[in-house]
Formats: sequence, C-alpha cells, structure tokens
Amino acid sequence: MSDIRDDVRAGFNELYGYEPAGMWSAPGRVNLIGEHTDYNEGFVLPFAINRRTVIALGLREDGIARVASSFADEVVEITISELSPETLNGWAAYPLGVAWALGQRGADLATVPGFDIFIDSDVPVGAGLSSSAAIESAVAMALNDVWRLRLDRPTLAAVGQLAENKVVGAPTGIMDQSASLLGQKDSAVFLDCRSLDSEIVDLGFGAAELVLLIMDTGVTHSHATGGYAERRASCELGARMLEVESLRDVTVDDLPRARNILDDTTFRRVRHVVTENQRVLDTVRALREQGPAAIGDLLDASHLSMRNDFEISIPELDLAVETAQANGAIGARMTGGGFGGSAIALIHRDDLSRLQVAIDGAFAEHGFGQPDTFVVVPAHGASRES
Ligand code: ADP
Ligand code: MG
Repeated sequence: MSDIRDDVRAGFNELYGYEPAGMWSAPGRVNLIGEHTDYNEGFVLPFAINRRTVIALGLREDGIARVASSFADEVVEITISELSPETLNGWAAYPLGVAWALGQRGADLATVPGFDIFIDSDVPVGAGLSSSAAIESAVAMALNDVWRLRLDRPTLAAVGQLAENKVVGAPTGIMDQSASLLGQKDSAVFLDCRSLDSEIVDLGFGAAELVLLIMDTGVTHSHATGGYAERRASCELGARMLEVESLRDVTVDDLPRARNILDDTTFRRVRHVVTENQRVLDTVRALREQGPAAIGDLLDASHLSMRNDFEISIPELDLAVETAQANGAIGARMTGGGFGGSAIALIHRDDLSRLQVAIDGAFAEHGFGQPDTFVVVPAHGASRES
C-alpha cells in the first residue's frame, strides 16, 4: 500500500511537474454472496479488499481536467464544462465520468476548479474485483473533498454508479461502489439495494482461521456488452409479467405461481434472483449467530444457482469451484457479474496451499490458461491518504 502511494506521488510529480494537493484511495471488492440481485433491488453482501486504487490530485485554475494512469500511455485532457457522456470514452470515462456525475448531483461544472489526476492501482482489472468501482470511488472521494461538495458516502456511491451507467455505458447496480466506499476492516457490507440501508457485518475469518481465496480464471468479461445486459432484461421482463415493481417483491413462496406464469428461461432467471436474495439473508444470520464456518453450503448453493438457473458461469469458473470443494474448501462460488473473472473459496488456512496446487493442476489438465490465486482480506473503504 505504501509502495503504491510512493509510486503515485512520484508519477504525479514526474508527469505534471508539481506536488499534488492530496492523495486518496479506494479498494476493490469481492462479493461474498448476492449476485445479480443489486439491480433487482435485493440484497448483497460484498466486502472491500486489501487491493486499492490510489490517486494523487492537484488543482488547476483554468477549468481543465487532465487524467493519467499507470495503466495507460496517454494523458486525457478536457475542459470540465464540456464533460458529457458523449465527450468521454475509453478508460478516462471512469474518472472523468465521475466528475460529470458530480455535476448531476449539484457540483457547478462551470465554476469548479480544474484538476490533474494520476492513478495507480493493485486491483486486478477485469477479474471481477471491481477495479472500476475502485477508480470511481477514489475519484469521487477526491473531488468531493477538493470541490467541497460535502456529499456523504452513499451519495458518492450513487455518483460512481451514474458515471458507470451513463458515461461508461455499463448497466451495473450500486453494489460495487457501496462496498468500496462503505467497507470496514474484517467486515462485509450488508446492503439493501432498495432502501440503500447498509449494515456492517463482522466476518470473523481470522478467529475461525479461515481465509478467502480468489481464483482468477484470467478470462476477461465485458459488462458493457453481452450477457449482463441480457440477464438484466430477463429480470425486468420477469418482474413485469409477475406484476411487481422488481424481483425484490417476489419470495421463495411465490415461485410455484411464477413457474405457471413465466416461460422456462425467464422462470429460471427469476428463481436465481429470488433464492439468492434469501441466501444473502441466511448468510447474514449465519455469520451473526454461528460465524463464517457456517456459510459454506450457502456459497455452494449460490454457485449452482448461477450455473444452472442464471447461466452466467463458464467452464473455468465451474472447474475452480469444483476443485475447491474437492480440496477442503468449506464453500465456493463464482463471484462478480459472470462470463469470466473470478471464483472464491472459503477455506481453513492450513488447507490453502494444497488447494492452490490443486487448482493449478486442474487447469493445466483441462488445457485452460494458468489461473491466478491469491488471498484477499476484508479491508477499510475509501479514504484520504494525505
Ligand atoms: P472490473 O471487474 O475490474 O471492474 P470493468 O470492466 O468493470 O472490470 O472495469 C475495468 C476498466 O476500468 C478498465 O478496462 C479501465 O478502463 C478502467 N480502470 C480500472 N482501473 C483503472 C486504472 N487504475 N487506471 C485506468 N483505468 C482503470
Ligand atoms: Mg467493474
């Protein structure tokens, strides 16, 4: 962490030739359970991880914004009053989209000071750990401070989501930004995506000697295209046909009726969302009453539901999950939007290296690319660094 901060300060200095006014950081996140429930106004249980995106920011007096990242070669420059979903594209749509979105939430883009930003990160991109929310949340925190907007963290989460939906063009929900902004050490964020009420839930991994392993398949996904939007449309169709505002209003007891009304595909999409909401509630209760060793079956059931009903898994994710289950994990599931990215396994720390070896072996045996496996620790949310 201190390494990235040093790199960011040095990178800023080298590029812009002056000292930044401050540095901010925001973490990636992993979703413990509650997949594709957020845009259905349901429940999610993500936690912020010990991988962060760090930005250094300096103010300018000319109303111009410049952004640069260790990930990209070019410096992107734009006049702030000209920010719009149409004028932004590529990676700069994330940080500058947040500046635009703050304008939608009260910042006066005609008068705010300009800025230079330099970004570095150790959140893997496209691995399902939400490098996108990390960059959005870090920029939202920074601009909220230097533009003196006094927006609270839930509002900044909504700003990040607005940028991602309208500027990047990915129809994602509020979960990622909420985890990145509201997360706390050793804890998960239990978020009601309808009311946006959140509660911090102690995970207790350390006391139970459990660790959470990320198994990154290396298969990249793209939210802006393909299956994600299609699944979202299926959920909206299901809600319309069931005459409810959103699938949040459907319970497990309603499923027999839903089966009579919906076509098979839409029914299975709906069943995933409805049962997943219940699994999130059950997971929160299990964590509070029994501790993390009690949530394994819920994680396993979540994976099956995504594989069979929501159909967003891929062979690499299924193999990672099955290998974990066969090698001591107390529970495992794919995580994130699907079609690639990572799976997670909750496992006793003594069984960790055996599992990592087994995953490598299984992937090689199936002719899949070498996966990346690493432990993540529940960490604090977005913060000012200096
Ligand atoms: P993820 O699952 O990692 O959130 P997304 O496709 O939602 O995947 O977002 C990844 C995109 O976010 C990258 O392709 C890039 O455009 C942008 N991004 C994330 N982190 C950075 C960074 N540190 N610097 C520049 N762009 C970034
Ligand atoms: Mg993302």
